[in-house]
Amino acid sequence: MTALPIPNLSLSSGTTIPQLGAGVYLVKPGEAVDVVGTALEVGYRHIDTASLYGNEAEVGAAIAKSGLARDEVFVTTKLWNTDQSRAAEAFQESLDRLALDRVDLYLIHWPQPMYGEALGAWRSLIDIADSGRASAIGVSNFEISDLRQLIDETGVVPAVNQIELHPLHQRRELVEFCTEHGIVVEAWGPLAQGKSDLFEREELLEIARAHGKSAAQVVLRWHVQQGRVVFPKTVRRARLIENADIFDFALTDGELATIDAFEAGTNFGPDPRTFDKR
Ligand code: NAD
Repeated sequence: MTALPIPNLSLSSGTTIPQLGAGVYLVKPGEAVDVVGTALEVGYRHIDTASLYGNEAEVGAAIAKSGLARDEVFVTTKLWNTDQSRAAEAFQESLDRLALDRVDLYLIHWPQPMYGEALGAWRSLIDIADSGRASAIGVSNFEISDLRQLIDETGVVPAVNQIELHPLHQRRELVEFCTEHGIVVEAWGPLAQGKSDLFEREELLEIARAHGKSAAQVVLRWHVQQGRVVFPKTVRRARLIENADIFDFALTDGELATIDAFEAGTNFGPDPRTFDKR
């Protein structure tokens, strides 16, 4: 159970986060214990789950089964939209399902600006962080205006913003705002959810061949080389290993620019400004 050589990034909370982890969205509860167990076994130490994913209990069970010490595994979970007005209770329910007394990062999953409840939820997360039960707190899918509101009203800057981000959807203005405010950007859907023609593009394959890596590894490297956190999802052991094997090569500025040029404003997830899911 040796940890993979994955760098840590500093969070404004004073804690650190492994730059690469395993995301478990759409990993069915029935397979989550095995998938998370395999991830930990091959050396992952960072799991990204959410109340919505319905697999917090299995994530917690896999961590317990691994025998790893609590502080060796970084666990993120998220507050679901319907719970924004009862964040303290929902957080405790997540802890209970995970069978943990602390998470490393707790996020508001979506801003849901049409309901105006995210600010109240953020105040609850600040209390949770003060209690020591979340070592860091942050948000997900927040736009600049949503972030500004939290910062202006509470003075507490989210440690991370977890957003859809991949070569076809780069969110440059939002990323720049986060960087200026010391907010670490976590890229969800880092591989465009496997829904695009990205991995067939000749420019990408050429870069991959030059480094003896796969197209997916090159895209993940493009993310981490720009200081972002990623947790690509896969249920396959071989791909878990492949996706983490990206810290022994570097893309040139020219190669980074080639991938930058794939920007197309194409999102595969919902638009956070209008996403209304209750
Ligand atoms: P992803 O970009 O990680 O894509 C996953 C898909 O990519 C897999 O199903 C598979 O088809 C393909 N894939 C994975 N490894 C591959 C490889 N080595 N080669 C070729 N194809 C490969 O998409 P995702 O699962 O949506 O995002 C990752 C994680 O981000 C999620 O599991 C979840 O933890 C998080 N997430 C968060 C939000 C949010 O709203 N905060 C939304 C979606 C996902």
